Parts: sequence; structure tokens; C-alpha cells
Amino acid sequence: MDGYERERNGLMAQIAAVAAETARATGLRAFDARVMAAMGTVPRHEFVLPADRPFAWSNQPLPIRFSQTISQPFIVALMTQLLALDPEDHVLEVGTGCGYQTAVLATLARHVYSIELEPELAASAAARLERLGYHNVDIRTGDGAKGWPETSPFDAVIVTACAREVPPALVAQLRPGGRLVLPLTTPTGQELMLIEKGRDDGDLETKPNDLPLTVRSVLRVAFVPLRQQREDDALLN
Ligand code: SAH
Repeated sequence: MDGYERERNGLMAQIAAVAAETARATGLRAFDARVMAAMGTVPRHEFVLPADRPFAWSNQPLPIRFSQTISQPFIVALMTQLLALDPEDHVLEVGTGCGYQTAVLATLARHVYSIELEPELAASAAARLERLGYHNVDIRTGDGAKGWPETSPFDAVIVTACAREVPPALVAQLRPGGRLVLPLTTPTGQELMLIEKGRDDGDLETKPNDLPLTVRSVLRVAFVPLRQQREDDALLN
């Protein structure tokens, strides 16, 4: 019992309601019980600024430090659902922020590798996740568009900031049959995209980067932009 039972139940109902309202666009009538259970167990009030705790269990994005945001819970649930995680999966996340989505992923997968551009956000998210008992997470500071080659391939990749184009390194680091979920800027606004990499056909001539991609636009969304690493920082990493 943490004093948020009523708010938590209210949020679960809201996520289910928005899932039903957006079912036509997303192709998903409801989210899996595992995803909803993870949304119910991750203590969102631990991830927001102290002044925002009373609103932590409402279905809205909230500001965090460095002009960034903690994503709307419905969007976190939707992106998690689209990744279709297996308990054995290794996941790459780009854009750790406060670490909320990271915790949801860590609840459902074997291990989460998360990259954050802002060193102070990366450090505070790592400390918070450790304190809350999420030990199957590694966080590092850097430009997530380059991925995390040493620990690839990943079963699933999620980007929580909006890119202008799909970062090629993230596609390269996805295993055959893996899923990449990311918001993309299009001429008419941001759209959440689901990209699935085809499975290996056993043909030795087919290189991993040649596997076919299935791309689907899922929903119109609003994310902070995926930024580029400053040159001088890049030299240090
Ligand atoms: N996943 C968070 C939302 C994070 S907001 C949640 O659960 O609420 C997006 C984050 O992406 C910000 O913290 C921002 O600093 C970070 N970001 C932006 N560009 C990036 C890049 N190129 N590489 C890694 N992180 C980036």
C-alpha cells in the first residue's frame, strides 16, 4: 500500500478507455494483462518532480528537468504493447529521461539497455532505478541514434524522442524478427511507427541488413525531439 491505490485504479481505467478509443488506428483493442500489470506496479510517483506527485497517476505527460518530459502513461503502455516483449528479451531504449519507461520494460523483459543524452538525467535515472530495485538495467550517456553495438543484437528497440528519420544503426542492431517502435517526424506531424525486421530465411547470401522491413504507422503522437550529440561531447565518449 503506497497511498495511491485509488489513483492507480483510475489510471488503469483511463488507459483501457483510450486504448478502446484509439483501437481503429492502432489495431489493438486492449493491451495484454502483462503490460497492464507492469503499468500498475511501476510507481510513477517516484519518477516525477516532487511538486507533481499528486498528478503522477494521471494520464498526462509531465515536465522533468532539462526541458524534457515523462511520457503519457497511455503512450508508454502502447509502445510497450507494440514491442510484444518476451520475458527473455533484451531491449534497447533510446531516451531514458527519468527512467519510467525503462522500469516498465525492465518489469517485462530480461534486460534493458538505455541511452540518455543528458548526463545528469542518465545518472539520476540510474540511481532511481537502482533504489527502486530494478537491477536488470544498464544506462549510459551518449547519442542513442548510434545504438549500443557491444550488446546488440536486441530483440526490441524503443525510441522515446522524435527522430526525422529511422537511425540506421538501430535497424542494424535489431535481430531478425525483432521490433523497433519510434516516433517519426512526417510532413503532417509526428507519427508513432512500428517497424518489424523480417526473419532470417536461412539463405547464407542474405546479410542481416538486407532483411525486409515491415513499416506501419500506428498513431499521431507528440514527443520531444531526438537531439544530436554536441561534437565536443562526442569526443569525450
Ligand atoms: N522515456 C521517458 C521519456 C523521455 S523524454 C519516459 O519514460 O518518460 C526523451 C528523452 O530523450 C529526454 O530525456 C532527452 O534528453 C533524450 N534524448 C534526446 N535525444 C537523445 C539522443 N540522441 N540520445 C539519447 N537520448 C536522447
